[in-house]
Amino acid sequence: MTVIEQIKEAKDTLVSFEILPPLKGKSINALWEHLDPLMEFKPAFINVTYHRSESMFKKKPDGTFEKVEVRKRPGTVGICAALMNRYKVDAVAHLICGGFNKQETEDALIDLHFLGVNNVLVLRGDAPKNESSFEPDPGGHRYAIELLQQVTNMNNAIYLEEDLKNAVRTNFCIGVAGYPEKHFEAPNMQTDLAFLKAKVDAGAEYVVTQMFFDNQKYFSFVQSCKDAGIHVPIIPGLKPITSKKQLTIIPRTFHVDIPEELSSEITKCKTDADVEIVGQEWLLKQSKELKAAGVPVLHYYTLGKPQVIANVVKNL
Ligand code: FAD
Repeated sequence: MTVIEQIKEAKDTLVSFEILPPLKGKSINALWEHLDPLMEFKPAFINVTYHRSESMFKKKPDGTFEKVEVRKRPGTVGICAALMNRYKVDAVAHLICGGFNKQETEDALIDLHFLGVNNVLVLRGDAPKNESSFEPDPGGHRYAIELLQQVTNMNNAIYLEEDLKNAVRTNFCIGVAGYPEKHFEAPNMQTDLAFLKAKVDAGAEYVVTQMFFDNQKYFSFVQSCKDAGIHVPIIPGLKPITSKKQLTIIPRTFHVDIPEELSSEITKCKTDADVEIVGQEWLLKQSKELKAAGVPVLHYYTLGKPQVIANVVKNL
């Protein structure tokens, strides 16, 4: 089923998870060990992130360096198929503009379609670590909306080769990202919301939010979306804080605030095991309030902490 079909049929708030492909060279078993304990909660779907390649400098025998492109976490498409096969669960493949040209995107979409993966979350992706701003690859897309238009074209049997005869329609359900605390590059919230509305008007059927730690930010974002004419489901993205260093890493990486009440509790902790307890309680409190407010899905970024997520979902 597609994400939107599941949301429409659900009588209660659904639960979903998001995972990263394992690092190149690692076995998929690590992923199963991560997910097996979470499957008792019957997630409606599982998202698999996509990671662009990064440029690295490799030392040559003569002492000089050469620039090489390394994709550290390949496998998104294969993992989606493996998830569906192992757990009979719907998988959502993330697709990004960065590092792809349109032809490669089309090929990936054809693979997904043949594998029966009918859910995609279309994203722009970020600039590579050593570059200050996002630049599309030659022949690639600059914004998520352009990638989205490519997917909706294929849903209408329009491929890059326009003279294809009797081309089949794909049937992707398309989600996009939204930012309760504004995307960091947007000059203001109104502009960011106008671009989000453009993605929805172009065919996005739901929005998944960036993580947030203050539910009021989500509630006011949902209201601002309604005011801006965005009427699709807005799925809250949730993540536990499990170590002290995340107090600085999370705001720097994801451009979100950590409420003073939470940060001061974490600062008082002596060990990361203590932080995990605080983070878990906070996430449970957030989840209960969101569920009571009737959100369509609670979407958890599980990122290496399946036990914390299991403890939260168990207590909902
Ligand atoms: P866009 O919608 O393209 O927006 C990017 C910026 O451009 C925003 O500031 C927006 O306001 C502005 N903008 C949009 N359209 C236009 C336009 N037409 N003209 C001018 N400005 C415009 N990254 C990954 O690499 N892999 C992942 O798997 C991944 N998963 C994610 C999942 C979720 C739920 C979220 C919230 C983020 C994820 N990201 C992932 C990170 C994401 O790629 C970054 O946040 C990226 O910086 C923006 O992506 P976007 O799709 O929101 O971009």
